[in-house]
Amino acid sequence: MESGLGTRGYVGYGALLLVPPIVQFGLPWVLGRQMPELAYYLMLLAALMASATALVYSRTSAFDQRTVLCLALGLLLWVIGMGNAIANSDAEQNLISTYVYFVSYGLPLLYAAVATRDEPTTRSRRLVDGALLVLLVILCYLGVRDLQDDHGFLRSQYEPWVALAFDAENALLLMAFLVRSLAATDEREYRTFRTVTIFLGAYALASALHNHIEQLTGSAIVGAMADALPTMVFIFLICLLHGYRKPGAFELADRIWARRLAASFAPGILLAAIFALSVGVRGSQGVLGQLVLALAMLTYVIRVVQTQFWFAATRDRLAEALAAVERVSLLDELTGIPNRRAFENTLRERLRESMRDHKPVSALMIDVDRFKIFNDSRGHLDGDAALKAVARLLAGTLRRPADFIARYGGEEFVVLLPNTAEDGAQVVARRMNRSVYDAALAFDLGIDRRVTVSIGIATSGEIDAEGLVRRADDALYRAKANGRNGYAAAVERPVVSSP
Ligand code: GH3
Ligand code: MG
Ligand code: MG
Repeated sequence: MESGLGTRGYVGYGALLLVPPIVQFGLPWVLGRQMPELAYYLMLLAALMASATALVYSRTSAFDQRTVLCLALGLLLWVIGMGNAIANSDAEQNLISTYVYFVSYGLPLLYAAVATRDEPTTRSRRLVDGALLVLLVILCYLGVRDLQDDHGFLRSQYEPWVALAFDAENALLLMAFLVRSLAATDEREYRTFRTVTIFLGAYALASALHNHIEQLTGSAIVGAMADALPTMVFIFLICLLHGYRKPGAFELADRIWARRLAASFAPGILLAAIFALSVGVRGSQGVLGQLVLALAMLTYVIRVVQTQFWFAATRDRLAEALAAVERVSLLDELTGIPNRRAFENTLRERLRESMRDHKPVSALMIDVDRFKIFNDSRGHLDGDAALKAVARLLAGTLRRPADFIARYGGEEFVVLLPNTAEDGAQVVARRMNRSVYDAALAFDLGIDRRVTVSIGIATSGEIDAEGLVRRADDALYRAKANGRNGYAAAVERPVVSSP
């Protein structure tokens, strides 16, 4: 992705990755003595460096801030866990508290994975999420407390189960981040989640090998090699953050399913985390365990209410915006009256009504006379102004609320008069001719040196309602042929000239 990286960059990263195993195996060899805890110090150091790197990058615009900050925080918890392990280790066993820190490492990351952009990042949401994370850590502690011996160490019979729990946590995180990378809608989001996903994949693998391989192979040397893996993964993360810090090419993928999944798994995953961590909270934890569990559920409920509230508000805003868009899409930009699309909708409705009620509906097709000449002689801006004036005059002649006028296109208008027979339509047409004529919009080459319109009238019979517009158009041509500035009806009648 980072085109400027080049071969030298990869060689540098590769060399950096080799440092942990070289130190881990080389230092005892050079010093000539066993250093059983060296691997753990290296892990701690590498995780600390990775956390610091993530923190530094979270302060820049290189990555999605929240996600990388959560990564830094998770790694810090990991460092504390490792510090706790080193301080209290007898090399073979770990304190329960150490495991709690290691589990907690995943919680900020889980939060980063579920916090999608669809949800608000208000202060109250951050408060609720923070509280939920703390409660999850306490639940985790209460849940594993029963697994400790008298000295606070994990009983060895539980070790395989705890290792499996880590595998499950790592796999869950990996999946969540993978979905988020697939669902990303911009370059930075994609790069951030991709970077963390690659790290989580490497970490899941290294952690599984580290936790299982010595048990599986029974070989100490294989175990020692596996000890180098987590350190290498943290160094790898530093390389990833550095290598992917610059924007690269991004094409928005058509993965709606990933976006829907990412947007919808948040509540489920949090509930699953509460459930998973509360499994160990049994009666022995007494009131405290029940209380923390109840608090976690309550916090979760508050979070769901927040989300639902926010979605309802979003839905209302969308509906309003959609209505506004619809309104605009049905109006003619120039004249401000309804447009052709609005006319088609209204026509269908009115025809249905007229058929149902056995009432006639009349249509008037109105065309400005010699408007091409008007445009050619006066220019398009004056032409536009004249069209606006004509639209206003025509609309002003309509009296009934159900009467409807639209701009049909160009310098043509159409009127629908529901529940109006042909004689009524003629009255309206006459009024329109007169209104435009009397306004005396100056046009030297027009009839009587003014702007005029011609009108074709058609009235629906019950049988051929659909041909209404076509018949009105035919009538309009007859009105034109008969000298303009007048109207004609679709049926064969003498053309009337007005005024
Ligand atoms: P007739 O009397 O036979 O209707 O002649 P006419 O010139 O009006 O008819 P024609 O359909 O040939 O010309 C229509 C003209 O209307 C073409 C164009 O110059 C003008 N026109 C169409 N739409 C617009 C518009 O949105 N703005 C402006 N300024 N002029 C328009
Ligand atoms: Mg025309
Ligand atoms: Mg015309």
